Amino acid sequence: SWKWVLAPIILYVFERILRVWRARQKVVVTKVVMHPARVLELQMQKKGFRMEVGQYIFINCPAISLLEWHPFTLTSAPEEDFFSIHIRAAGDWTERLIDTFQQQKLEMPRIEVDGPFGTASEDVFQYEVAMLVGAGIGVTPFASILKSIWYKFQQSDQTLKTKKIYFYWLCRDTGAFAWFNDLLASLEQKMAESGKADFLTYRLFLTGWD
Ligand SMILES: Cc1cc2nc3c(=O)[nH]c(=O)nc-3n(C[C@H](O)[C@H](O)[C@H](O)COP(=O)(O)OP(=O)(O)OC[C@H]3O[C@@H](n4cnc5c(N)ncnc54)[C@H](O)[C@@H]3O)c2cc1C
Repeated sequence: SWKWVLAPIILYVFERILRVWRARQKVVVTKVVMHPARVLELQMQKKGFRMEVGQYIFINCPAISLLEWHPFTLTSAPEEDFFSIHIRAAGDWTERLIDTFQQQKLEMPRIEVDGPFGTASEDVFQYEVAMLVGAGIGVTPFASILKSIWYKFQQSDQTLKTKKIYFYWLCRDTGAFAWFNDLLASLEQKMAESGKADFLTYRLFLTGWD
């Protein structure tokens, strides 16, 4: 019976070694943006990094904790030459990460990245009508999808079958809407310029007032 136990242990150890090796690869933080409602955006580059829309990464900041890894959805599009995440202050680690990046102006704190993981949401481009519903920071995968659509439009990508997108976003505070403002505005303008003003219909719902 020891053989049945040994095989999964070997696979587990191999997976851990692979993850340690991947995590040790150099990550360059290219841009740090502090958004309203204490949301930190990190734009990064890592050699050989490839992503799909809807995937997430694990990040570690050794200056805060050597062992803690936290998952964050990628908000960049695969067409971009960097990858990004938006981090909302939710608890101890995220609060400390945001403080660390706000305080360190000269030298960026070191970040380790493992991933990307998760199934891609590429399927969305295969349907003529898509409905995207997000709440709060849960909007992050849609940032990636909407950006990717924007690039596909610019490149007249034939794989894009989507003709109509309904996008609903529920948020507790007004500040959060500012993260997405530029993206939605540029997407709307691009669609209007290409004679597809009704391509994107979006509704933003404010559910609280702090
Ligand atoms: C696949 C995936 C993708 C994600 N993508 C994103 C993303 O794009 N952006 C993003 O901002 N977040 C995302 N998250 C969530 C993010 O990973 C967490 O917010 C983060 O790891 C929290 O870490 P923390 O130590 O700061 O908070 P924690 O200390 O773990 O706290 C998290 C929450 O639990 C509550 N809590 C903690 N301790 C207690 C307790 N004792 N009793 C009651 N409540 C408690 C906190 O108040 C807080 O609301 C994602 C999570 C997953 C699984």
